[in-house]
Amino acid sequence: MELPQYLGDRNRLTRALLAVGLAVYALLSLRKGKRLRGGLAGLGAVALGYATATESGDVTESFAAGLGTESTTESGQLRCAMCGEPIVPGQRRQPNENDETVHEACLEAPA
Ligand SMILES: [Zn+2]
Repeated sequence: MELPQYLGDRNRLTRALLAVGLAVYALLSLRKGKRLRGGLAGLGAVALGYATATESGDVTESFAAGLGTESTTESGQLRCAMCGEPIVPGQRRQPNENDETVHEACLEAPA
């Protein structure tokens, strides 16, 4: 997993730099009155920047998933705050005093 991650980071950095370079090139072209070239370079910069930003979001998400970060909103799965087990549909659940969702059985069980 380390090598692809490393390559991905490098690609993203390269594309980010490329996007910045294209943006500068577009500005310089526009200044010289070369509107077509400047416009195309500007479009490329926006597309590259957008792709880079979008991808970095994905990487952050998969990185968080790799760490085993518990999240009830992203996975769409509720987890019991007391026993840590997922709460499947049909199981009785209720919020505890801290407003966390727990199994009803866990809440009633003696600590
Ligand atoms: Zn539970």
